[in-house]
Amino acid sequence: MHGLIEGVTRFRHDVFPAKAKLFAELAHTHRPPALFIGCSDARVVPELITQSEPGELFVIRTAGNLVPARTPSPDGVAASIEYAVSVLGVTDAVVCGHSACGAMTALAERHDLSAAPAVAGWLRHADASLARTTGGLDCLVRENVRAQLANLATHPSVARALAAGALTLRGWVYDIPTGAVEQLDPVAG
Ligand code: ZN
Repeated sequence: MHGLIEGVTRFRHDVFPAKAKLFAELAHTHRPPALFIGCSDARVVPELITQSEPGELFVIRTAGNLVPARTPSPDGVAASIEYAVSVLGVTDAVVCGHSACGAMTALAERHDLSAAPAVAGWLRHADASLARTTGGLDCLVRENVRAQLANLATHPSVARALAAGALTLRGWVYDIPTGAVEQLDPVAG
């Protein structure tokens, strides 16, 4: 693996010049058509999986691709969702889970998270995912995508766009060893 600085140097010298026209346009335009909510896991790279160019995906990545339901005290995830949907006007929103997810594994196998209290607290946003799961890890990963889509729909900006027919919600599961992306059935609400 190369270092971060070497990576930046390579980007400036080898990658940027080939896309200079695109970056010049993006300097004054930000109109991504899609919101992608994925796991922070380093193996899940939204732009790579969807073959998207810079400017095409508005990305939110959280541990376990969790989307806290709307609360009276909005956090950074809520603000990013609202900005993507209400201000940028994305027309598609994806919640993408993945195989071998560390967050989901910790829940499925009831890991002791007492040494990581922030993680333990954050994973409570998957309580409903656990509650609706009848099988093992793969089942939890899928039910978690469905539960987080339901959470996403509790945000007023999303609810408004859905009611207007201006937004499509999608649930995906990405399989790391094969590169396959499974699209889950649409979820009510
Ligand atoms: Zn994960």
